[in-house]
Amino acid sequence: MELIQKSKELKSLLKQKKEENKTIGFVPTMGALHSGHVSLIERARKECDIVVCSIFVNPTQFNEKNDLDNYPRTLEADSILIESLVDFLFVPHSVEEIYGANMILKEFDFGGIENELEGKFRPGHFQGMANVVSILLNLVQSDKAYFGLKDYQQFKIVEKLTKLINLDTKIVGCPIVRESNGLARSSRNERLSQQAREAAAVIHFSLSYIHLFHSYFTIDEIQKKATQMIQGILEVEYLEIRDAETLGKITDWNNENGVFVSFAGTIEGVRLIDNICF
Ligand code: AMP
Repeated sequence: MELIQKSKELKSLLKQKKEENKTIGFVPTMGALHSGHVSLIERARKECDIVVCSIFVNPTQFNEKNDLDNYPRTLEADSILIESLVDFLFVPHSVEEIYGANMILKEFDFGGIENELEGKFRPGHFQGMANVVSILLNLVQSDKAYFGLKDYQQFKIVEKLTKLINLDTKIVGCPIVRESNGLARSSRNERLSQQAREAAAVIHFSLSYIHLFHSYFTIDEIQKKATQMIQGILEVEYLEIRDAETLGKITDWNNENGVFVSFAGTIEGVRLIDNICF
């Protein structure tokens, strides 16, 4: 694994590989890597000749400065975890390396999907994410890029983004990796006490309850029931049952695009998200 800090250097190394007809798989991350990230990298390893991973804590997608300041930065441990799986680890040495000296953000039109759910509770988050992802995807120009379905709304927006910016990169969605109690793996879990980590298993429990028992209830009934299961353990920001493509509201279970149940809430001041699709 080669550590690269400059975009130019990465570009020229990848140019060589493309000239040798190697296929390239790309996994963008913000670091503090865990088995969820590793599952994306392993998938890229299986499907592509060359694997590129990036670690960049993107300031423009944080709507709370505190969250950005507290985001774990563990480059040494990250490198060790993925060194046998990755060819190029891109860690831009500064924010300017990505955005240039005068940071000018683009405003993408994703047709409203960016303002639903996470977009509503984290204003500007998806525009910030889309800006950095478009810069990184343009830089790497990979055949495939791998994203976790844990951030389902992000995945849907990135799919739209590649069309908007005319990129050929195939966006691959990878299943959510969970802890043994069902809690979705997240860098943020490290900030929880052991007790909270166990209690937060209720999120996946209640989402699975909806999946298993939805046909016995109306959408509103089960949404209330599942929210009640979690309330008291976590502070629920939202638990919404939506169309899996448009993320708009649905009126019955036989929704042709599928059902997407999305959750966000906090415990011990740590914000957790999870979802289930069926
Ligand atoms: P992050 O570093 O949090 O921006 O995440 C980088 C990528 O890893 C994103 O595509 C996430 O969706 C994905 N990811 C994070 N946690 C998980 C998980 N538990 N299971 C699957 N993918 C994940």
